[in-house]
Amino acid sequence: MRILVTGGAGFIGSHLIDRLMKQGHDVICLDNFFTGHKRNIRHWIDNPYFELIRHDITEPIRLEVDQIYHLACPASPVHYQYNPVKTIKTNVMGTLNMLGLAKRVKARFLLASTSEVYGDPDVHPQPEEYRGNVNCIGIRSCYDEGKRVAETLAFDYHRQNNVDIRIMRIFNTYGPRMFENDGRVVSNFIVQALKGIPLTIYGDGLQTRSFCYVADLVEGMMRLMNGEHIGPINIGNPGEYTILQLAETIQKMINPGAELAFKPLPQDDPKQRQPDITKAKNLLDWEPKINLEEGLKMTIEDFSSRINEAKS
Ligand code: NAD
Ligand code: UDP
Repeated sequence: MRILVTGGAGFIGSHLIDRLMKQGHDVICLDNFFTGHKRNIRHWIDNPYFELIRHDITEPIRLEVDQIYHLACPASPVHYQYNPVKTIKTNVMGTLNMLGLAKRVKARFLLASTSEVYGDPDVHPQPEEYRGNVNCIGIRSCYDEGKRVAETLAFDYHRQNNVDIRIMRIFNTYGPRMFENDGRVVSNFIVQALKGIPLTIYGDGLQTRSFCYVADLVEGMMRLMNGEHIGPINIGNPGEYTILQLAETIQKMINPGAELAFKPLPQDDPKQRQPDITKAKNLLDWEPKINLEEGLKMTIEDFSSRINEAKS
């Protein structure tokens, strides 16, 4: 198949491309390199079945493809809040353009949505039926509301134009290739512990997140794309940890002497988050296989080799 991956030079997109290329597909990676980098897909550049297009999805583009994995959008709060208007444009105009493309060429379209559509949830864990608790005027809304509109657009194109859609709600994902300056919690703590500087805990650290290793997530994403259920379906690891527990685990694994530094909690930071993955288990026969310690070990190895490379 010819498969388009928007945001393919980013963290999750580049791992997805590795899997698709290894399966023998013809892959087009489309990215504006805002938070992605050529180095994530460098190993495919000379492969005749791989194409890289520098393009901003807020502008239309004409391509012929069979499937579209639509991931283009900065995912870290630091980056999506850097230019919130651009984030909303990417989610709304960008998703419109990609849905228009899917409609024109009759491609199957998978939207990388997010657990952020549940906002600061008052139902725990979060099933797909929960409609969420999102502040529509807060600093996270360019992303949260942007993704909610993206889901709406996908469903409207499906109902009105028969576009074949899949909606995936991704919970916090981590793994090799996250950037040192990504700003999300796992990469921050690993980089800080490796550099021997204090681990920055926002608030009291009692807020929770559930962390999924990227290989597990990509497997779930491909099962959703190639199965018959349109979703939305939660894909994440139900193992729930406080941020303090995460910091202590990383401290123990890298540098037991590393200090913790408490910083103010950002506005609208969700207090708890854990996926209910009953649907993914029943409909996709999917569940994560890699636990936090195993996933962190592989991620830490990747970060330390990159940091050592940069030093030498
Ligand atoms: P990332 O920031 O590493 O990757 C996003 C990619 O999209 C980057 O390569 C970036 O350059 C590209 N991009 C951004 N705006 C673009 C635009 N206007 N035009 C073209 N390309 C653009 O993030 P990620 O962690 O790989 O996330 C990928 C997708 O998964 C995102 O849609 C994100 O919302 C979703 N998601 C991720 C997580 C997570 O924990 N990683 C959680 C929930 C949802
Ligand atoms: N966080 C933290 N220290 C950091 C970065 C993040 O304590 O250096 C906290 C953040 O406030 C949030 C959690 O870790 O409660 C997860 O943050 P992240 O940015 O990774 O993802 P999101 O908030 O979007 O789930």
